[in-house]
Amino acid sequence: MVTQCCKCKKVRVRGAWHIPAAPLPGAVSHTYCPACFLETQVEFFSHSASRAGCAGAQRAARVLFAAYG
Ligand SMILES: [Zn+2]
Repeated sequence: MVTQCCKCKKVRVRGAWHIPAAPLPGAVSHTYCPACFLETQVEFFSHSASRAGCAGAQRAARVLFAAYG
């Protein structure tokens, strides 16, 4: 089974993420690649912070940027 990132559509091959050269054959399982996982976490925290005016969420977003950005 092929594992594909649901956001950027890259596929995981032996632990590395690549843009597929051809349409994917057979069953496909979806997840996030590490870059899109981080991006989604940051979007989530940023969105939460702007909606609720929550200083804790803003701080968490900054920590994520610092750790992975
Ligand atoms: Zn991705």
